[in-house]
Amino acid sequence: MGRKIQAVKGTRDLLPPETAVWVAVERTARETFGAYGYSEIRTPILEDTELFVRSVGESTDIVGKEMYTFADRKGRSLTLRPESTASVARAFVQHGLHRAPLPLKVFYIGPHFRYERPQKGRYRQFFQIGAELLGDAGPQSDGELLLMLVRFLSVLGFEGLVVRLNTVGDEESREAYRKGLLEYLEPHREALSPDSRRRLETNPLRILDSKDPADHRVLEGAPQLSEFLSAESAAHFEAVCTMLDRHGVAYTVEPRLVRGLDYYTRTVFEIISEGLGAQDAIVGGGRYDGLIEELGGQALPGIGFAIGEDRLIEVLPEKFRSEAMMSSAVAVAAVPPVSAAEAVAVAEELRSENLPALAELADRSVRSALKRADRAGVQWMVLIGEQEQSTGMVTVRDLEQGTQETISRGDLANYLRRSR
Ligand code: AMP
Repeated sequence: MGRKIQAVKGTRDLLPPETAVWVAVERTARETFGAYGYSEIRTPILEDTELFVRSVGESTDIVGKEMYTFADRKGRSLTLRPESTASVARAFVQHGLHRAPLPLKVFYIGPHFRYERPQKGRYRQFFQIGAELLGDAGPQSDGELLLMLVRFLSVLGFEGLVVRLNTVGDEESREAYRKGLLEYLEPHREALSPDSRRRLETNPLRILDSKDPADHRVLEGAPQLSEFLSAESAAHFEAVCTMLDRHGVAYTVEPRLVRGLDYYTRTVFEIISEGLGAQDAIVGGGRYDGLIEELGGQALPGIGFAIGEDRLIEVLPEKFRSEAMMSSAVAVAAVPPVSAAEAVAVAEELRSENLPALAELADRSVRSALKRADRAGVQWMVLIGEQEQSTGMVTVRDLEQGTQETISRGDLANYLRRSR
């Protein structure tokens, strides 16, 4: 016997019936984003490594230690995408989409890869549902994108989620702040955690993200980014907040929220969920006004978010989950000696009438067919016995009520539609 092969560490098989939940979440995303004029984009899972190095940034954890990078057979360095904003921006530049009516609004759903230590809520292959708006710099774009995100979460049934919001300013404000922060932190170097000491050299803003208590003590007296904001960046942020107020979106301003990636400018945000433990972020996003130009395109702005679908589903409200897992409401079984092929034929008639139906495929006793139907959450059991078969009738049993009726086979679809 051969050795059993396991799924690769940090990857998972998504199995039925759980996959029904994933499908329902993705359908809801497509519908909600569609209502805001977003269309689906599908970019390759493999990209030139350079794309992420240049956009996400060399000093980030993602590029520094988490990418699945390998040489292909011709020695080209390829990377399994760790995120999709860079890919969307690349596609925008490659296809000259600045010539399309702007802003371009797209969403994506798919697997992403990061070589992280697997734990609850953290996988090496994980799914993101994301949206990007390219080619508009106004605060209404930030505001509407956030409204769309919040609407999606509320359609799924989430309550009490709060958007954590901040601005990291434009490039000049950020650069001025970086200098100010460094000046403040240098004399405290020894009191910082080893990670943060390293970040002093590479990416000092990331120190604000630290969860280490030693770093928190040092940061208490640190200057805040808001003191370094240009008037324009401050006005932009103000306008985004006003819009969220107007629509009753729950948010808090988090002066220390910077987000790790190099390409962020101005508005940044995240949503965390308490039900998740250490890996509590379910959404991250922000503006990236320099990214398209950085990738060789026009100087055009953009903003987007990525939802971690694995984590979202982990804390999904029960009502949405159970409705998504409801299986076919109707099952059809033949009563021996009538052949199971008869059950398939009746089920086919129902499907032609747009009614989903499960057919009992094996010649089994009614008792075992009923047991299976019950376990599958079926409400209506259609039975075809010898008597029914010879008279063109079927018996419909309501498994919830325990009642049954014999009706003409030709009326079955209408009968079920009426009874639903
Ligand atoms: P990020 O681009 O890192 O902000 O990621 C956006 C979202 O993707 C996060 O808020 C998480 O919900 C999710 N995510 C990121 N990395 C992982 C991972 N390794 N496993 C599961 N979900 C992840």
